[in-house]
Amino acid sequence: MKWLMVFLAAWLVLLAYDFSQFQKNNMIEPYSQFVVALNRGDVSSVSVGKETIEGVLKTAPPGRPKQFIVERLDDPDLTKRLLASGVTVSAVHENSFFRDLLSWIVPALVFVLIWLFFTRRFGGISQGGGMLPIGKSRARVYVEKDIVTRFDDVAGVDEAKQELREVVDFLKNPRTFSKLGGRMPKGVLLVGAPGTGKTLLAKAVAGEASVPFFSINGSEFVELFVGLGAARVRDLFQQAKAQAPCIIFIDELDALGKARGLNAIAGSSNDEKEQTLNQLLAELDGFDSAIGVVLIAATNRPEVLDPALLRSGRFDRQVLVDKPDRQGRAKILEVHMKAIKTEPAVSPDFLASLTTGFSGADLANIVNDAALIATRRQAEAVAMQDFNSAIERVVAGVERKSRLLGPHEKRRVAFHEMGHATVALSLGAGEEVHKVSVIPRGIGALGYTLRRPIEDRYLMDRSELEAKLAIALGGRASEVVFFDDISTGAADDLDKATEIARAMITRYGMSAQLGLATYEREGAPFLASGARAFEYSEATAQRIDAEVSRLLDKAMSTALETVKSYRSMIEEGASILLVQETLDAADIKRLWQKSQRRMAA
Ligand code: ADP
Ligand code: ZN
Repeated sequence: MKWLMVFLAAWLVLLAYDFSQFQKNNMIEPYSQFVVALNRGDVSSVSVGKETIEGVLKTAPPGRPKQFIVERLDDPDLTKRLLASGVTVSAVHENSFFRDLLSWIVPALVFVLIWLFFTRRFGGISQGGGMLPIGKSRARVYVEKDIVTRFDDVAGVDEAKQELREVVDFLKNPRTFSKLGGRMPKGVLLVGAPGTGKTLLAKAVAGEASVPFFSINGSEFVELFVGLGAARVRDLFQQAKAQAPCIIFIDELDALGKARGLNAIAGSSNDEKEQTLNQLLAELDGFDSAIGVVLIAATNRPEVLDPALLRSGRFDRQVLVDKPDRQGRAKILEVHMKAIKTEPAVSPDFLASLTTGFSGADLANIVNDAALIATRRQAEAVAMQDFNSAIERVVAGVERKSRLLGPHEKRRVAFHEMGHATVALSLGAGEEVHKVSVIPRGIGALGYTLRRPIEDRYLMDRSELEAKLAIALGGRASEVVFFDDISTGAADDLDKATEIARAMITRYGMSAQLGLATYEREGAPFLASGARAFEYSEATAQRIDAEVSRLLDKAMSTALETVKSYRSMIEEGASILLVQETLDAADIKRLWQKSQRRMAA
């Protein structure tokens, strides 16, 4: 047992070191900002190390400390410039003994740890005291207090902020909130593409409510050793409860909360994930929200989440954090441009018009890059040309090429999306339209509604399914009507429509032609081998195909009719979309009411 204590002590040292490194890393500022501050004469003193430069500013920027750390770049005449601007310069001789020692110890320890773990786990010793130190490890649960992020730092996502304000109110005073009968938030799911500011929003909630912020990445729950994920979840909640009110933030929830059925098919060892997920569900159900712990999770793939997570009392609030539209981008640019000095000719609004489809993180990068480019040409302030080069760089990035739509494509997408929206509005089918968008790969096209767990939903009847089919084809119908031509843009829609039509026939017995027999089983769309489960003859297959086409044709003519009768609404909506890129619920309602009035007249 003695060596176990030694081991524990070593582990703690490691943790402490890790944490201090983490905190340091967290303080690192972009080099460009350092240079801008230097040019402004705002730097009081610096000490130059081998890899980093630490320094003190004369005046602290809003919300930040005076001290800063930047990574040292190859900048030969820096010293000259530093001296010229009267900065106190000193050099530090970095004592690397400790670090070298650690870089030795770390791999050795990991080895010992793995060995220990396996001998214990498979050596017949049940999960006793020996596991505890590992289970208690907080290595990658980050706790931050006194967070300086505020809602003002997050721009262009006003709806999301509005929804989260309530969480802030709750955290500020959980007890009175519950006394007054407010609906207490427990789990909030932020849904949006990467880089749209989900983490930033969660932090801002913690900052506004001045509560501690626990964060962990969903994939880190499952990456480590077998059997640890569940312990870690328990541990995390225990720590959090002890510090309530507070926020627990889980990034990439999808890594942890994938639908269990999918895992079974993939056939890999997903016991671990399932255990962890079950533990998370148990913790969520087990705590009384009145103590003031709010779980916020983020995902960009809501469709793969286990429906159990979305049940009421769990993540029953979903907040869409979509890619910003033009106005949103201008605001985000403004936020980030506060930190740099720009020429008066630089207009956030104009920059926003060049960056359709960019996320908040892309925009932050652009501002940073532009500042770097300006620094390199030793400019006084960042000019439009610097921003242009920075944007080009991002656009040229390999996977991002497709992000910028030409005016032609944009027009087509606008009509396509208005087609979907109009058919959805006119047929109802329980699908309210919250948002229409022409931003590539945003989630908000056609008012994105998150899949709800089955038991929350009523049964779908045949007319609803038929309406769904027509909605899926509405995009293409609109292209046919307005462009007299079709594009490749509808491929996904056609897939979806075909799938619905097939299910109606082969699973729900909704075709008079094929009767009540089912031909495919629910939940088993593909076998482990990836092949379809055919349980019928070739002749039946032909009849199914014929029925599928018939249903699709019928839905298409419904869609075409609807599009034709709402022509002017689609035209008006599309022209607004071309300017502001998104239509929100209010815009859509206005358009709809106008067209209803027009039709009544
Ligand atoms: P996500 O968690 O959605 O992937 P992050 O919150 O990590 O995105 O965003 C990364 C960075 O991009 C932020 O730290 C911030 O600098 C910038 N950013 C992203 N979205 C916004 C926004 N809406 N307003 C201001 N800055 C943003
Ligand atoms: Zn479509």
